[in-house]
Amino acid sequence: MIVLKSSAELEAMHLANRVVHQALAKVREAAGPGVTTAELDQLAEEVIRDAGAVPAFKGYRGFPATLCTSVNDEIVHGIPSSRVRLAEGDLLSVDCGVVLDGFFGDAAVSFGIGDVNGVVERLVDVTRQCLDDAVAQVGPGRRLGDIGAAVQRRAEGSGFGVVREFVGHGIGRELHEEPQVPNYGQPGRGQVMRPGLVLAIEPMITAGSWRVKVDDDGWTARTEDGKLAAHFEFSVAVTPDGHRVLGLEE
Ligand code: MG
Ligand code: MG
Repeated sequence: MIVLKSSAELEAMHLANRVVHQALAKVREAAGPGVTTAELDQLAEEVIRDAGAVPAFKGYRGFPATLCTSVNDEIVHGIPSSRVRLAEGDLLSVDCGVVLDGFFGDAAVSFGIGDVNGVVERLVDVTRQCLDDAVAQVGPGRRLGDIGAAVQRRAEGSGFGVVREFVGHGIGRELHEEPQVPNYGQPGRGQVMRPGLVLAIEPMITAGSWRVKVDDDGWTARTEDGKLAAHFEFSVAVTPDGHRVLGLEE
C-alpha cells in the first residue's frame, strides 16, 4: 500500500531529512586519511542525538551502527569499524537514516578521500548526475519507470553498471514503504506518481559489472568483480507542481 503524506507530514519529513544532511555534512568534513569508519559513525550519532532524533539504522534487522560506510568495491550496507581506516585515494559511500517525531529521513553521499584517481572522480560525478537526472523525473503524473530509465541512461551511457539487487523505496512513518524504486526501467511504465508520495531515490552505480555479492557478515554488499561502486540518495516528495528534495536548505 502506498501512503501519501499531507503537507504537514512532508514538513516533518523535511526536518528529519535535514538532520540526516547535517550528519552527512559533518561526516564528510571529518573523513580523511587515517580516520576510521567507527569514528565517523560515532560523530554521526552525536549529531543526530543532539538534534533530538534517533539513528534509524541502528537495530534495524540487527544492523549494528548509525551509518552504513561502504569503501571502494563495497556498494552499500558496509558496517563501520575501528579496523577500517580510510586511506588516501579511497572512495567512501555514507548512508544515514534518522527518525524524528515519528518520520524517517534517509540520504547518502559518496566522495573521495584525499587525492583520488580519475575513475573515482568520474564514478562519483556520474552517480551524482544519475541522482539529479532521477530527481528531475519526479512530478505528478510521471511514472516510476521514468526514474529508473533516467538513471540507467546516464550510468550506462557513461560506461558504468547499474546495481539491480538493491532499489530505492517509499519512505514515511516506515523506513521502507511501497513502492520499490528500481534504478533501471522503461520510461512511461510503472506506477504513476501523485502529490504526497515520498521516494528515497538511490542510484548504486559500479565501474564494472552490476553483479553483487554479500559478505559473511550478512550485510556488506560489494561488486562481484571487485570494481568500485558509488551511491547517492535523496528523499524526494512529489508536490502538486513538481517535487521537493527533503532536508536541503532552501
Ligand atoms: Mg539510505
Ligand atoms: Mg534508502
